[in-house]
Amino acid sequence: MAPVIIAHRGASAYLPEHTLPAKALAYAMGADFLEQDVVATRDDELVVLHDIYLDRVTDVATRYPDRRRPDRRYYVRDFDLEEVKALNVWERVKADGNAVFPGRFPVRSGHFRIHTLDEELTLIRSLNETTGGTTGIYPEIKRPAWHREEGVDIAPLFLSVLDKFDYRNRDDNVYVQCFDAGELERLRHDLGCKMKLIQLIGENTWGEAQTDYKALRTDAGLRQLAQTVDGIGPWTKQLYELGHSAGAPVSTGMVMAAQELGLAVHPYTFRADDLPPGFATFEELVSFFVGDLAIDGLFTDFPDRARKILTDLRAHG
Ligand code: CA
Repeated sequence: MAPVIIAHRGASAYLPEHTLPAKALAYAMGADFLEQDVVATRDDELVVLHDIYLDRVTDVATRYPDRRRPDRRYYVRDFDLEEVKALNVWERVKADGNAVFPGRFPVRSGHFRIHTLDEELTLIRSLNETTGGTTGIYPEIKRPAWHREEGVDIAPLFLSVLDKFDYRNRDDNVYVQCFDAGELERLRHDLGCKMKLIQLIGENTWGEAQTDYKALRTDAGLRQLAQTVDGIGPWTKQLYELGHSAGAPVSTGMVMAAQELGLAVHPYTFRADDLPPGFATFEELVSFFVGDLAIDGLFTDFPDRARKILTDLRAHG
C-alpha cells in the first residue's frame, strides 16, 4: 500500500500552522490525513494548537502583558476560549522573535485565528461531503499529564468531540496519537477507545512525557507497544544512520522490527526547508524513507511535494 501523507499542522510550509486556511490548503493538496494538536483552554474547551503556550504563534504578549507566568510564558490554559479566539495567529517565531522558518509566510502578518477541534472537524466533514473526498483526521492529545495537573482531564473531552463526528471505531478514518504511553494504555484499556492509536516516539531529553522512549525503541519495548497501539510515530533520525564509508544513509532496522510486529510506522517531520543530515534534497529524503525503509506514512509540512514524489515513485517503480 502507498504510504499515507499526513499534513503536519496543515500545509504549514505555506500558511501559519494549525489555522483553518492551512488545513483547507492541505486538503486541496491531497493529503490523506490532516493533523490536529489538541490543548485545553481555561474554560475546558479544546482548541487546535501545537504548544501549551500561546506566545510563539500569537500576539498574546502585547495584548495581555500581565498574564504571563513566572517562566515568562503565556499558557493556553490561563485564557478562556473567547480570549484565545480573539488573538491574531502568526507564523511561528523563536524566543528572539525571528521566524523559525524564514522562507515561509511572513511573521507578524496576515489575518488568522485559533479555532476549536469541533470547528476543524466540521470543516473536514463538510469538505468530504461536498467534494466526495475521504480525507481522515490525525489528532494528538498534547501533554495529558500536564493538563491533569492543571485541573482538566483532556482525554474524555477529546473522545466525546470525536464521537460527535462519528469517529469511534477501528476502521474509521482516524489515527489518535500521543507521546504519553500511559495515556495511550488508558485510552485503549480503561476508556474503551477502539480507534487506531499511534505511539509518538521522541527522545527522553525532550520532556514531552514521563515515557521512556529509549526503552520503547528496543525489541521488547516495541513488542509491549503492540499490545496497545496500531503504529508508531518515530523521529526521522531514529530510523537511519549515516554509513561509515560514503556516509550514505542506512536503516537502523527499527522500521522492519516494528512492521514485523504489525505496527505501522509514520515518522515525522519531512521538511524541504529543514533537511536532516545525509540528504541533499527533499526528493532524496522522501525517496529513501519510502523506497528503502518502506515506511507506512509520513508527517510533512509539504503535502503537495510529498504527493508529487509518491506519484513519481509509483510511475517509475
Ligand atoms: Ca503533533
